[in-house]
Amino acid sequence: MEADIVCVGFGPAMAGFLTTLSKQLVKVDGAPAVESAVLPGMPLQVLCYERADDIGFGVSGVVTRARALRASFPEIEKAAIPMAAPVGEEKMLYLLDPHGASRRSAALRLADACIRACQFVLPLEHYALKLPWTPAFLHKRGGLVLSLGQFMQWVGAQVQNTGTVQIWPGTPVSQPLIEENKVVGVRLLDQGVDKQGRPADGFTPGMDIHAALTVVGDGPVGPIGQELNAHFGLPEGHHTRDWAVGMKFVVDLPPDTPLKPGTVLHTFGYPEPELFGFLYVHPDRVASLGIFVPSWFDSPVRTAYRYLQHWMLHPYLWRYLKGGKLRSWGAKTLGESGKRGEPRLVGDGFARIGEGSGSTNVLTGSGVDEAWATGTLLAEAVLELLKAKKPFTKENLEATYVHRRRASWVEQEANIAEKSRDGFQKGVVRGMIGMGLAGLTNGRFAFNGDPVPPWKRVPSIEEYYHSRVSREKIAKLRHECGTKCVSLHDALMDKVGWPAIPFDGQLLVSHQDALLVGGKVQAPAGYADHVVFLYPELCEKCGTKICIEVCSGQAITPGEGGVPNFDREKCVHCGACLWNCAQPLPYDSERGNIAFRAGTGGLHSAEN
Ligand SMILES: Cc1cc2nc3c(=O)[nH]c(=O)nc-3n(C[C@H](O)[C@H](O)[C@H](O)COP(=O)(O)OP(=O)(O)OC[C@H]3O[C@@H](n4cnc5c(N)ncnc54)[C@H](O)[C@@H]3O)c2cc1C
Ligand code: SF4
Ligand code: SF4
Repeated sequence: MEADIVCVGFGPAMAGFLTTLSKQLVKVDGAPAVESAVLPGMPLQVLCYERADDIGFGVSGVVTRARALRASFPEIEKAAIPMAAPVGEEKMLYLLDPHGASRRSAALRLADACIRACQFVLPLEHYALKLPWTPAFLHKRGGLVLSLGQFMQWVGAQVQNTGTVQIWPGTPVSQPLIEENKVVGVRLLDQGVDKQGRPADGFTPGMDIHAALTVVGDGPVGPIGQELNAHFGLPEGHHTRDWAVGMKFVVDLPPDTPLKPGTVLHTFGYPEPELFGFLYVHPDRVASLGIFVPSWFDSPVRTAYRYLQHWMLHPYLWRYLKGGKLRSWGAKTLGESGKRGEPRLVGDGFARIGEGSGSTNVLTGSGVDEAWATGTLLAEAVLELLKAKKPFTKENLEATYVHRRRASWVEQEANIAEKSRDGFQKGVVRGMIGMGLAGLTNGRFAFNGDPVPPWKRVPSIEEYYHSRVSREKIAKLRHECGTKCVSLHDALMDKVGWPAIPFDGQLLVSHQDALLVGGKVQAPAGYADHVVFLYPELCEKCGTKICIEVCSGQAITPGEGGVPNFDREKCVHCGACLWNCAQPLPYDSERGNIAFRAGTGGLHSAEN
């Protein structure tokens, strides 16, 4: 099939691109403002394919300053987007460990002791120290608390109502079509295949869509972006070694909640010092809350689900959450390399936008506004080229899109943020001070620290727990968990003093039950497994098996002969397995032994 522009993914970046583009494709009288090259006499033919089963199915924040969103929708406050509220009170909290189960450095333990000793003069309540001020660079004053799912559904309707763009959810793109280093379009996913991708009943090969321009906005772990990175390589000195997995619950707060819509709480320090947490309040007693587990957290059992439950149970938060109810949940990767993860933004026939193009600001933890802005910049560039009847060559896209991007606020702020998180490579205290330094000095000062791939920094389970659990005990637990085909982290966390989770069937539900609550996880039949263990022999010799421990949906479990099993019915497409593998590929030490390919299904919730 032929189109003028084909787009991969419908996240905030693509929404920004299509919102700007779609407004300028037809004149007031309905005549084409820009004529299609593939259907002469018709307006430009623009197709957008989205992997998830509906628009806005996925998971993300979001509290945003909404600068770019407001530039596109000056009246956004009046649009009555469900779950949106203006940002109100913002608090930054340091959470102490009420159980003594977390791994804290000597420096942090000393700091905790000092805080406890001075509790009568410090703003300490319920084991949480409220920071006296939130630095300006972290403030979202004047911004919005949104449900990204609801916002994306609203934008999707706006874009489609223009009648100039088609958006196809439930349609994963399997690969870019590359001819002599030129991207000439995309191929959709085969249907009617078995788990290995071999033709089965009802086999329908994925269609090829040829287009003069392919716009890639498939997010931080998108397979099309990954393939372009593998084919064209990253610019010199760039890498994508820093990541986090964000896990999020959307909850009904108890009827008597004192929390007002627009409240924004940010936490650090607990359940492990390395984990950041957030709680944003929407209207009607609904809240989005969750934690981020970063790649520099040196634990081989970095499970987001169990840690999220301990975070909710922290005394400061639990007094607000007790009596609440889970509406939906999910997990998603956040690309934390920022500017350093920027790939080749353009090439002949393609352009990259959004988080997969390195747009996320790692200092402010802001990605939506930035992604949206890159989309609008590309749309302006594309319209300029179309009107000048210039082809989408690397040179022309550089002169228009890349030029605009370099001059934008996204770029200026990304430069400030570039080194802001390096301190975390050598510890949390150093990391927090480094972030503060970078933020307060506009990036002039920051602590150094060399980001390394997770497989290089994550110790074995035996090394990590050496002072708390004996090798013999670990071997016994490993055997027991292997026999039950479950991950090891629960048993280990119980062993080192984490209290049992008091499941209440409302807000505190088992990981398995969470797959069925609210936004159910679903996977249509007839598609290949999208998580693939590339070299089984590497899995056989892998002791850490961190892919099993991190899996957000319990979709990866212990398997025969040491090679894990993958159950795509449980996969929430968070992408955490892609960057958490404990073994590098023999021919590319920047990549692990897991391929995260295009796939259907995942979370069915438009609230996240
Ligand atoms: C838990 C969490 C909380 C966050 N909180 C905030 C916050 O409060 N504020 C903020 O500003 N940012 C926040 N972020 C970051 C923000 O969500 C991202 O920066 C932003 O969503 C990036 O937008 P994007 O369009 O580039 O990519 P994405 O949002 O990742 O969208 C990419 C789209 O491409 C689709 N796709 C992927 N592969 C394919 C394929 N093969 N074929 C077709 N479609 C495909 C995906 O399904 C997805 O819809 C948060 C992130 C997480 C994980
Ligand atoms: S995928 Fe990676 S982490 Fe998982 S078992 Fe195989 S080598 Fe180990
Ligand atoms: S298998 Fe699915 S749910 Fe599990 S880590 Fe990978 S992408 Fe996430």
